[in-house]
Amino acid sequence: MLLILNMRGILNMAIVDGKKLSQDIREKLEPRIAALKARGIIPGLTVILVGDDPASHVYVNNKERAAQQLGMNGHVLRLSADTGEAQLLELVDKLNADATVHGMLIQLPLPDHINELNVLERVNPKKDVDGIHTLSMGNLVVGRKGFVSCTPKGIIKLIESTGERIEGKHAVIIGRSNIVGKPAALSLLAKNATVTICHSKTKALADITRTADILVAAVGKPNFVTADMVKPGAIVIDAGTSKVDGKLTGDVKFDEVAPLVSFITPVPGGVGPMTITMLMENTVEAAEIYG
Ligand code: NAP
Repeated sequence: MLLILNMRGILNMAIVDGKKLSQDIREKLEPRIAALKARGIIPGLTVILVGDDPASHVYVNNKERAAQQLGMNGHVLRLSADTGEAQLLELVDKLNADATVHGMLIQLPLPDHINELNVLERVNPKKDVDGIHTLSMGNLVVGRKGFVSCTPKGIIKLIESTGERIEGKHAVIIGRSNIVGKPAALSLLAKNATVTICHSKTKALADITRTADILVAAVGKPNFVTADMVKPGAIVIDAGTSKVDGKLTGDVKFDEVAPLVSFITPVPGGVGPMTITMLMENTVEAAEIYG
């Protein structure tokens, strides 16, 4: 975490450094991976990518590299955009039966001709390291242990790294996707926050966000959250990643929001690195439990 002083040298706010936190967590994974290897188990992560979406290519390459850097088996299966649903389901079945694959991730979005839910539901929940299977989501709903989607899991760790208590705080999440918004809300609820979920049909959004002690932006619209939408002293977590003039840009207008808040994550270097690290952690956990 990087502390920032204002011009009078008074502590203003802190940037929550997702890169550093991510590095610390990866270091803690190393002995766990070594212990698995001593048992003859190399944690294996296979990512399936269908199509040519340039952003998805970058994401899967990063995941593959992170796994390999940790000495895990990281593979990306790159399939052409015209891959049929039946063919994809067959591949998922094959990976479900492969004992060297401990974690499987289907990179979203899939091409329109493939029913996303059919494919996601076919993944064995024991290998669902992306926490997207309805069983994993159900576990989160009822408070049972299971794989939690990587971005929300990273968001919780980022908030906890501030040293602030989540319990009793009002957490507002902008976004209700199955991969970020909803599991982030459920995870915060599980930590005893009082949770409000906002979305594109929410009325008077700024009135709600201004009451947030913890504000999570998962909208996908660059610079969407402005200073007038934020409560002074809040913790602001920016999950957004959009490209603006070739530059990775978050959902939060960082320059005007940062001076108002107590903690804020930057883009890049906040939620992004944590998402990948949580994927590694979930894969190691899958290997430890189901090896
Ligand atoms: P998504 O599926 O497109 O969901 C966006 C959400 O924002 C939806 O729930 C939508 O509401 C809501 N929204 C859109 N316009 C709004 C408005 N004007 N006011 C309030 N809410 C509005 O996106 P996602 O998959 O959750 O991803 C969100 C962002 O996080 C994207 O930038 C994505 O790239 C990023 N992301 C980053 C990581 C990472 O590792 N850093 C991982 C995953 C995603 P409706 O439901 O009503 O449409």
